[in-house]
Amino acid sequence: MTKKIKWDYSPAPESTDHIQLKDQYDLFINGKFISGAEEKYFDTINPATEEKITAVAEAGQSDIDKAVKSARKAYDKTWSKMPAKERGKYIFRIARLLQERAREFSVIETIDGGKPIRESRDVDVPLAAAHFFYHAGWADKLEYAFPGRAAKPLGVVGQIIPWNFPLLMAAWKLAPALATGNTVVLKPAETTPLTAMKLAEIIQEADLPPGVVNIVNGAGDTGKYIVNHNDVNKIAFTGSTDVGKYIMKSVAGSGKKYTLELGGKAANIIFEDAAIDQAVEGIVNAIFFNQGHVCCAGSRLYVQESVADEVISKLQKRMQSLIVGDPLDKNTDIGAINSKMQLDKIKMYVKLGLDEGGSIYQSSCSIPKKGFWHAPTIFTDVSQSNRIVQEEIFGPVLAIQTFRTVDEVIAKANNSPYGLSGGVWTDKGSKIFKVTQDIRAGVIWANTFNKFDPASPFGGYKESGVGSEGGIEGLSGYVNLV
Ligand code: NAP
Ligand code: MG
Repeated sequence: MTKKIKWDYSPAPESTDHIQLKDQYDLFINGKFISGAEEKYFDTINPATEEKITAVAEAGQSDIDKAVKSARKAYDKTWSKMPAKERGKYIFRIARLLQERAREFSVIETIDGGKPIRESRDVDVPLAAAHFFYHAGWADKLEYAFPGRAAKPLGVVGQIIPWNFPLLMAAWKLAPALATGNTVVLKPAETTPLTAMKLAEIIQEADLPPGVVNIVNGAGDTGKYIVNHNDVNKIAFTGSTDVGKYIMKSVAGSGKKYTLELGGKAANIIFEDAAIDQAVEGIVNAIFFNQGHVCCAGSRLYVQESVADEVISKLQKRMQSLIVGDPLDKNTDIGAINSKMQLDKIKMYVKLGLDEGGSIYQSSCSIPKKGFWHAPTIFTDVSQSNRIVQEEIFGPVLAIQTFRTVDEVIAKANNSPYGLSGGVWTDKGSKIFKVTQDIRAGVIWANTFNKFDPASPFGGYKESGVGSEGGIEGLSGYVNLV
C-alpha cells in the first residue's frame, strides 16, 4: 500500500474581503432586479461549510412570462434592429468587465459551488471572458461564418444550465445567442446561482438594452416553465440526459429549436508507448479535476495490459499527494462536492462498485468534518457490463480496465450509451488518427485532457446530446440560414 506523504503545505487561502454579496438576490428582468410575484426565496449554501451565503428569488410561471415578454420586446424593438457592430461592442464590454472583476468572480464561484480557487481563477473565469471576446468578434462578421447565406436570429432563446461550471456555461450560452441577435431568458442551476447574478450586474453596468438578457433562478419547475413557454423560439440546455429527453419530448411538434449538451462517460486510453508519467498526470486531470463534476470527465480508464501495473501504482502514489479540502486554498486540488444530493449519488455508486465485485483504492486524505467531500477513488477488477462502467457518476470515481489491442479498446470505448469526449495517450500519431476516427465521441484529446477553446466546437454523439457549442458550429445553432 502506498504511504501518505508526511508533510503538508501551509494554508494559503484566497481572501474574501474584496467580494460584495447582497443579503438577497432578486430576478433580473427587463434590466432591473425585481422580486418574484410570489416573493419566494431559497438559500444558496457554501458546500464546503454548509453555511448559508445568501438567498435568491425563485421564479414562478408568471415571472417567466414576464421575462419572456421583456425578451420579446427587446428583440422586436431593439436588439434585432441594432447594427451588428453595435451589438458586438456590448459583448466586448461584458468581456472586459468580467476580466476586470475576475478575482471577485473566482471567489464567488468557489464559495457557491465548491470548486478549487485555482480552477475558478485559471479556468472558469478566463474561459468565460474568452467566450464573450470570441463571440463579440463574430457579431458583425456572420457573413464570413456562413458565406453566401444570410444568418437571421431565431428570436427569444430559453437557456438552462447546470451547476458544474456555472459562469462558464452562462458564457457558453449567452455569448453566441447575443452575437447572432437573439434575446435570452437564462436559468442557472439551483445550487449555483451567484455568479450569474453578478453577471447580471455586469450586464447592467455594460448598459445592455433592458430585456436583452433576463436571468431567473429556481429549480426544475422554473426550467419547465421556460421549456414550455409558447413564445420561446429555442431551448439551449446543458445538463443531464434525463432532463434532455424530457425537453426533446416537450418541444416536439412545437417548432422550437433545441440544442442539448448532456452527460458523458469518456474513455481515456493509455497505450504502452505513451509517456507514462505525463499520462498519469493526464488521468488525474481527466477524472479528479473539478471533483469529477465534468460532463467530459475521463471516467473510464483503459490501460494497455503491459503497462497496467506501472500506471496503476503511479496513479495510486499520485492520488496520495492530492490535496482535498478548503476550496479557497490555492494549494487545494480537490474541493467540495457541489451538494449533499450529489455526494449521496457518488456514495451510492461507490457502494454499487463494491457490490459488483470491484476492488477499490482511495487516497487516505483527511476530510473536513463539515461540508460535502469525497476522496479520490479508483476501481479495478470491473468489467464493461458493470453499472459503474456504464453510468455517469459525476464525481471523483474512476473505473479502470485493461486491453491488449487497438481494435479491442475501440470496441470497449464505443460500448457506451454516451459519446461526448475521450482521450488517447500514445507516442504514435498513427494510433491517434485511428482511435480518434473510430471512437464515436464529439471531442477526443490526444496526450492531454480537458482543454477548451471558444473557437472549437464541443458537443456529443448518442445520448450525450444534440448540436454543438463553440466555434461556427455553435453559432449555427442560434441562426436561421436563408
Ligand atoms: P440537471 O438536473 O439536468 O439540471 C440541469 C439544469 O436543468 C438545472 O438548471 C436544473 O434546475 C434544470 N432542470 C431540472 N429539471 C428540469 C426540467 N424538467 N425542465 C427544465 N429544466 C430542468 O443536471 P445536473 O444534475 O444539475 O447537472 C449535471 C449533468 O449535466 C450531468 O449529467 C452532466 O454530464 C451534464 N453536463 C453536460 C455538459 C455538456 O456540455 N454536455 C456540461 C455540464 C454538465 P435545478 O438546478 O433546480 O436542478
Ligand atoms: Mg451553493
